[in-house]
Amino acid sequence: MANSRFAYVRSFELPDPLLPSTYMVCRIDGRSFHRFTDAHVFEKPNDERGLRLMDKAAEGVMHELRDVVLAFGESDEFSFLLRKDSTLYSRRQSKILSAILSIFTSSYVFHWPTFFPSTPLQYPPSFDARIVLYPSEKEVRDYFAWRQADTHINNLYNTVFWALVLKGGLDTAGAHAELRGTVSAQKHEILHSRFGVNYNNLPERYRKGSILVRKPPEPAPVVHSMTAPRPPLHPSASAPAEVVSPLPDAAWSSPSAASTSYPSPL
Ligand code: ATP
Ligand code: ATP
Ligand code: MG
Ligand code: MG
Ligand code: MG
Ligand code: MG
Ligand code: MG
Repeated sequence: MANSRFAYVRSFELPDPLLPSTYMVCRIDGRSFHRFTDAHVFEKPNDERGLRLMDKAAEGVMHELRDVVLAFGESDEFSFLLRKDSTLYSRRQSKILSAILSIFTSSYVFHWPTFFPSTPLQYPPSFDARIVLYPSEKEVRDYFAWRQADTHINNLYNTVFWALVLKGGLDTAGAHAELRGTVSAQKHEILHSRFGVNYNNLPERYRKGSILVRKPPEPAPVVHSMTAPRPPLHPSASAPAEVVSPLPDAAWSSPSAASTSYPSPL
């Protein structure tokens, strides 16, 4: 039979399971967003519409994939944390990665007109993705602390850089040269003394990124009737995602994070 004659090619498809009982983090990042944000005239350094659209696309991922319990975004990237015990797609790496990437990208395009009503898309934006496994809560917390530290470092640099260009009259090469070798305190000082900007008063979204957390399940009501509906087997899997933006100070950067008002989704 024709089908069985060709079916052997299936055996070239290799399994790619992700280690059980480990946290999966999928990070997506815009491909050449330097160019994309130029082509679509994003405000520099932070286009609020662009950041909100990223949040909206991440919400789409959390809506579709219930095992994603937390997402953190900054600039053109988003990180998605999956439950340690997730069996999504039997933990097949390519399936999970491609599903997240594809849902994110299509949601980004789908919601584009809402956030940029007077800016038609010039070409289809795309993102890349990777999945990293982390064995314990410590690495997961440190992972998100690392991304949030990155948000802050980049944003401080970009804020001074664009102040020098847009208000200081420097060209981009001159602004880079001016900032070369400066430490954080000097960047704050340039912003304050030359441009009257107190960095700490900038919107938290810019300085700290944004986070979406899946609400923990409501405690099951104690009902004594024999006909009461049974609670779902995996209650958190049906809870909606809630946008909590931005991340409170140090929520992920210290072991005491669990004591913040944010419930640990881990
Ligand atoms: P790569 O394909 O290697 O990721 P890239 O050009 O996307 O290349 P990144 O390091 O990911 O490089 O940087 C993202 C770029 O997009 C930065 O230049 C950043 O300033 C810009 N960008 C992303 N989001 C926004 C936004 N909301 N407002 C303004 N600029 C943004
Ligand atoms: P999964 O997520 O597992 O892939 P699925 O519903 O996408 O689930 P497939 O085996 O991929 O299942 O089947 C694709 C389905 O989409 C089929 O039911 C097929 O009939 C339908 N479909 C795809 N393209 C077309 C098309 N152009 N016209 C009509 N039906 C289509
Ligand atoms: Mg990249
Ligand atoms: Mg990028
Ligand atoms: Mg990036
Ligand atoms: Mg198919
Ligand atoms: Mg299909």
